[in-house]
Amino acid sequence: MDLPLGGPKGVRTALQTLIDIALIATRDQQGTPRNVFDTDDDDDGTATIYVLTKTYGLAGRITGNENGSLGLHPAVYFYGPTGRHSGPMFMGTMTLVGRKLSNNDKTFFNKFTQARSKLEHILVHHKDLIATIIQKHIGPKRVDKYADLLNDLIDHLNAGEDLNELEIIRISGLDGKIFVGSGSDATKSFSDDAKSEAFIMTALRTSIKCPICDGYLDTDKSVSYDHIVRARDGGSGRSDNCNLTHPYCNQSIKN
Ligand SMILES: [Zn+2]
Repeated sequence: MDLPLGGPKGVRTALQTLIDIALIATRDQQGTPRNVFDTDDDDDGTATIYVLTKTYGLAGRITGNENGSLGLHPAVYFYGPTGRHSGPMFMGTMTLVGRKLSNNDKTFFNKFTQARSKLEHILVHHKDLIATIIQKHIGPKRVDKYADLLNDLIDHLNAGEDLNELEIIRISGLDGKIFVGSGSDATKSFSDDAKSEAFIMTALRTSIKCPICDGYLDTDKSVSYDHIVRARDGGSGRSDNCNLTHPYCNQSIKN
């Protein structure tokens, strides 16, 4: 039987992605399992259920309507400058959240949310720079290095710093290896930066922002309906008393 063009490769890629997410979700503080060969045989199914539960828990922090869901907008967090899905950005974001869950770091989600608006501004307006930083690392290191960068950006933003391109490069540890300002502003043609920014902004144009954290909402996949005036304070169930928010923000920040 002929398989449709791209079928088997697409299936393999999706399966590998799922395996990678399961590994991130079950990784301990020592970084084990590193790959599937680090995992034991599962004789009675308990290990499989454990892995699936952990994977579901991690995925539920990234997207979906569960209470702890950050509802990350894919155009902000997972798209590279050409508007295509970036493997290292996706896996790196998963890795950072997976690490915090594994370390039982309960403060992280609050810290992330405090920095979220400024972090998303960086991720949207400096996609080319972020892609260049990722490219400077060798393939196997890209995911972990991107997770480190996100974590460091969040810390610096929470320390009250406003980060320009030079500071982002410094935080990435690549100062002296990446240079900004090519002088292309002087030309009349659109720079790659301008084109990619236009693409991303088009993707985000119809997006609304969460009134609690001012981060982008992916209302197709993750949304929570928040009483502006709380029900217990007499707030009504009418639409004019209803805000669309991230599930995490509604459940954890407001209350
Ligand atoms: Zn929010």
